[in-house]
Amino acid sequence: MDFTELRNKMVEEQLVSRGICDDKVLQAFRAVERHLFVPPEYNGNAYEDHPLPIGEGQTISQPYMVALMTQCLNLGGNEKILEIGTGSGYQAAILSRIVKEVYSIERIPLLAQKAERLFVRLGYNNVHLKVGDGTLGWGEHAPYDGIIVTAASPKIQKTYIEQIKCGARLVIPRGTMLSQVLTVLEKRETGLYASDICGCTFVPLLGKEGWKE
Ligand code: SAH
Repeated sequence: MDFTELRNKMVEEQLVSRGICDDKVLQAFRAVERHLFVPPEYNGNAYEDHPLPIGEGQTISQPYMVALMTQCLNLGGNEKILEIGTGSGYQAAILSRIVKEVYSIERIPLLAQKAERLFVRLGYNNVHLKVGDGTLGWGEHAPYDGIIVTAASPKIQKTYIEQIKCGARLVIPRGTMLSQVLTVLEKRETGLYASDICGCTFVPLLGKEGWKE
């Protein structure tokens, strides 16, 4: 299978055609080999227009959703970004091609281990992983130039607001367990500015400041 061709097709047909226009985002999608982030039995489906199972009851998001959320962070290239919910590691890999440092937290050790191994293999050495409850953020490396939450949250956690810099954004799917609204929150000197982007469906964010486990 010609994965490079499938990948370029995905970029044109699923991202560019739907309005993803940030060149840095499109370049990252052309570069990162998505088929390596899905279980082997789904290799051939990796560039299709939908989420896929990654084991442990979790999913890798639809390519368009990953691109949209990345674009919403409004990245310049020098940032330090925190991701909540490493999962397969694909979103972190996309970010790592655009920004300086990526920090990512996953609550399921097996998924974190798999992602870690892949990052070592690919030489993506600006991604830093941790196993733990991401609803509490990662204070040690704060403040961040952006936080991206890739699981469904019942609310906007104060901790996330505290852990981003002024001028930075929080991208978070907020709503019920069954359906959410992708929300972008910008922290400015004058306050917080929220905008709703679109409806979406993510697996639940489980933890102290998320849904109860
Ligand atoms: N960004 C991922 C998508 C993962 S799905 C990717 O690119 O593949 C959401 C992930 O969030 C799951 O792996 C789930 O285990 C994880 N998750 C749920 N609650 C969490 C929490 N409190 N802290 C860290 N990770 C969490």
